[in-house]
Amino acid sequence: MESWLSTHLYHEDLSVTAQVLDGRAISNQIKEELAVEVAEFIRNNAIVPCLAAVLVGDDPASQVYVRNKRRSCEKVGIDSQLHTLGADTSEEELLELTTSLNKSNEVHGILIQLPLPSQINTTRVLDAVNPWKDVDAFHAENVGRIVQGRPRFLPCTPHGIQQILHRCDCPLQGKHVVIVGRSDIVGKPLAMMLVQRNSPLGASAANASVTVCHSHTADLAAITREADVLVAAVGQPELIRREMVKPGATVIDVGINRTTDGKLVGDVDFAGVCEVAAQITPVPGGVGPLTIAMLLRNTLTAAELQLA
Ligand code: NAD
Repeated sequence: MESWLSTHLYHEDLSVTAQVLDGRAISNQIKEELAVEVAEFIRNNAIVPCLAAVLVGDDPASQVYVRNKRRSCEKVGIDSQLHTLGADTSEEELLELTTSLNKSNEVHGILIQLPLPSQINTTRVLDAVNPWKDVDAFHAENVGRIVQGRPRFLPCTPHGIQQILHRCDCPLQGKHVVIVGRSDIVGKPLAMMLVQRNSPLGASAANASVTVCHSHTADLAAITREADVLVAAVGQPELIRREMVKPGATVIDVGINRTTDGKLVGDVDFAGVCEVAAQITPVPGGVGPLTIAMLLRNTLTAAELQLA
């Protein structure tokens, strides 16, 4: 189905190749919906939802991510704070800041931008975030709730992927989803969400049969070729090639890789895979914009929960 959320690519002989799923358009659609909900929340409660972003060190990519997240907050009417700490910050100092944000009545969501410098134990810090303000859904309590099918917050990138598939008419119920990558941020939580009996988007956005592949998977191509929906979240340019994809599959490219000439590419050989897939997300402009939109969604949810 062609819509303003996707476009088709054409071969030179005008035969159709994959439908390209437009993450920016879907993200804008979600942000418009959120802006209405945020305005209503503010009208009803005289409270402005607020996200506190914590940036430790001077990693340029992290600085860009945090800037984009704060700009997006502004667009939907959510307040944001930025707390910057030096690269030599100790774990104790970061834990102290986290505790004060946990206690602050003005702050509804806390975002600790990863990666953290090596002297800091990331798990200890993420577990110190108040689970009710944990808008990334990284806290062990929130991960446990996702596994049990009663999420408080859904993790941003996996939820973004679920939204893309839902809004582009790709139901998951009964489908075989293959996820390449088993990180705590993308692969594992996505697998947990898609095998559930139900989801906030309905049963058709869940109930999948899920296979998770990783660096020790034997014969990766044999498994990816079985996928109705293939998700690549590895961080290796062009790992997924045309011959690894079943004709007619939907391919979601989560990877963000910078080539030596500065170009941003995903984990999927986009041109090659477009020839066989039915649907595909581009990089940039695919999953990335959805990750931010879902962070905004979680910040509003956090404000609602703290009011209740
Ligand atoms: P990670 O870097 O923590 O782990 C990579 C995973 O890939 C591991 O589970 C590993 O087992 C697996 N892997 C490595 N080599 C493999 C191989 N040859 N075959 C199969 N599996 C292999 O993963 P991450 O943090 O999920 O990041 C993955 C990619 O997604 C990165 O490029 C990252 O920048 C990107 N990312 C994008 C977004 C977004 O919003 N678009 C969000 C998070 C991560």
